[in-house]
Amino acid sequence: MRIKDILRDILEFLMPRKCVMCGERLRGGESFICGHCFVHLPFTYYHLVEQSQLEKQFWALFPIERATSMFYHDGKNTRNIIYQIKYNGNPEVGRHMAYLYAEELEKCHYFDDIDMLIPLPLHWKRQLKRHYNQSHYICQGIHEKTGIPVEKGVVKRIKNNISQTHLNATQRLSNVEGIFQVTHPEKIKGKHVLLVDDVVTTGATLSSCAKELAKVPDVKVSILTLSVASRTAAPVLEEDNIDVSIYGIPLME
Ligand SMILES: [Zn+2]
Repeated sequence: MRIKDILRDILEFLMPRKCVMCGERLRGGESFICGHCFVHLPFTYYHLVEQSQLEKQFWALFPIERATSMFYHDGKNTRNIIYQIKYNGNPEVGRHMAYLYAEELEKCHYFDDIDMLIPLPLHWKRQLKRHYNQSHYICQGIHEKTGIPVEKGVVKRIKNNISQTHLNATQRLSNVEGIFQVTHPEKIKGKHVLLVDDVVTTGATLSSCAKELAKVPDVKVSILTLSVASRTAAPVLEEDNIDVSIYGIPLME
């Protein structure tokens, strides 16, 4: 056994790594989430259907090219993933999840015409408080799998709008109007950009940013998030139409 392995085992014994969803001890080869929790994640499978409800939700706000999310954000355990990424100083969880999602999306050629990844920017005051932008980490995970470049400085958030949490749909739309500004239009002119965030709820904030990006000539915008807040955007899957497994799990398990 090499010294490195011995040290790793000692560290593992002293500070066992725990699953961010169930809190159980992780086994060798598992990262952040145990195998049991991972296979039971409520995956959306949006990328396997045409015109998913999520895309329809966005199209009501802005003509994006396509949109997808990895899992529904509707249980205590899945909410815990986003909590870790966003509020508990553990954005590496986001990078890891994004890597796994990119692995699946690549099989469907999801990234074939994407030129760059753009993390949804935080206002500088919010980023200063959090010390990081979780969307950067999610982009990083996709980049590590696909090699698509991440462009962090293309668009910025110029207004520190109040939290959307307690606003209704109409208030959410007006709360995010004009809060983004493209700072380097030359970098995205004629490109297909993938705008990336952790969660989509009504889609108001992401649509506001997409609208701003699309003011640059010949820009196409698609959207990817790790989770989606509502199951009302659930796609209808028909077993006969799909003969693939995802994340190594038979689709209609
Ligand atoms: Zn677990």
